[in-house]
Amino acid sequence: MNILSTELIHHPYQAPEGFESPVTPVYKGSTVIFKNVAAMRQRDWRSRNGYTYGLHGTPTTFTLEERLSSLEGGQHCVLLPSGLAALANVALALLKTGDEVLLPDNVYGPNKALAEHELAHWGISHQYYDPLNPADLASRLSSKTRLVWLEAPGSVTMEFPDLLGLVQVCREFEAASPILALDNTWGAGLAFKPFALGWSSGHRSAPPTLLGVDVSVHALTKYPSGGGDVLMGSVVTCDEALHLRLKATHMRMGWGVAANDCETLLRSLPSMALRYEAQDASARQLAQWLGAKKDVVQVLHPALPGGPGYDHWVALCEGQGGLAAGLFSVLLDPAWRPAQVDAFCDALKLFKIGYSWGGPISLVMPYDLKGMRHLPTTALKPGHLVRFSVGLERPADLQADLAQALARSKRPEPL
Ligand SMILES: *Cc1c(COP(=O)(O)O)cnc(C)c1O
Repeated sequence: MNILSTELIHHPYQAPEGFESPVTPVYKGSTVIFKNVAAMRQRDWRSRNGYTYGLHGTPTTFTLEERLSSLEGGQHCVLLPSGLAALANVALALLKTGDEVLLPDNVYGPNKALAEHELAHWGISHQYYDPLNPADLASRLSSKTRLVWLEAPGSVTMEFPDLLGLVQVCREFEAASPILALDNTWGAGLAFKPFALGWSSGHRSAPPTLLGVDVSVHALTKYPSGGGDVLMGSVVTCDEALHLRLKATHMRMGWGVAANDCETLLRSLPSMALRYEAQDASARQLAQWLGAKKDVVQVLHPALPGGPGYDHWVALCEGQGGLAAGLFSVLLDPAWRPAQVDAFCDALKLFKIGYSWGGPISLVMPYDLKGMRHLPTTALKPGHLVRFSVGLERPADLQADLAQALARSKRPEPL
């Protein structure tokens, strides 16, 4: 045993205090050292006025939590190792055997898989509702409904729901008061404010009430990271009791996040709004350009007329800056052969084939909607769906890439 080992661990040197930098230090640590036993006994992991253990928070995680709460207009935040883990935290903390969860039919796919597997195994039932029809959601609410998921717009097909209308039917349901949880990855806290969606005219003579969701989940993997490098998720709330339920489950499940990942997010957050706006502008330009091609039967972009739920996007987002994420899908002519769709994606050079979005690299992904939807929809025309996530490349270069790939995939192939 090296005789120096103790000295190197219990070294007397302390760096001077007072290093002031705008950058949040990367505090690492599983163990937190208490001054004495009494201090250890007094410390409560739930309060953020002290530290108990790395898993329960460090100055780095507390700082990131505060910034994300501000971003979404909430008060409290829990960090998780991925966006999907954040969705799971909400379900595990709030549901028990016998409860029911309602999900929009166009919800982020893995959230459906969680409901269909783990939740179903634990005796928690689920139903899908039509995101474009608040009356359909209203008809599925029951005294068993404990949690209602919302997403705006839906993953892949991009239908923008009447978010305020959906919240209103849940708030007016008298047999139960389900918790409303929004997957806010697309809005990212920039396109609209999840805890202040708008005013309800109220019942009869009651004064109008400000309507919002109870929980906002954000896959920080997307725009907050912006680099395609970090996986993380957050759960933001305004209600302290609800936050403590989420945090207790978070603690019991041991869902920690890495300090270096928090550092990357803290570095990326200040540029997020600029990136979001740039990616939005490029995506709209490309979506419009593609929409004019005769091979494209429908453009699915909530901020472009003709996109499903466009009027709802206008109502919710236009007054708040009129923003949208850099994400859209197109439906290609159903007469195209599936191999032609694949050839189009393969022919793209700048758009890489890959999942996720919000990073600097543009991505493309073909989707087969069969098996992804449980309810009929009239919002989508028949066709082959291809989704684009627009990165930070020059829009003209991306447009040229789309043009050459369209031309190449239409070349007659030998049968
Ligand atoms: C990507 C994504 C998630 C999951 O985030 P991960 O960090 O990849 O687990 C959840 N919801 C939406 C809408 C997403 O796009």
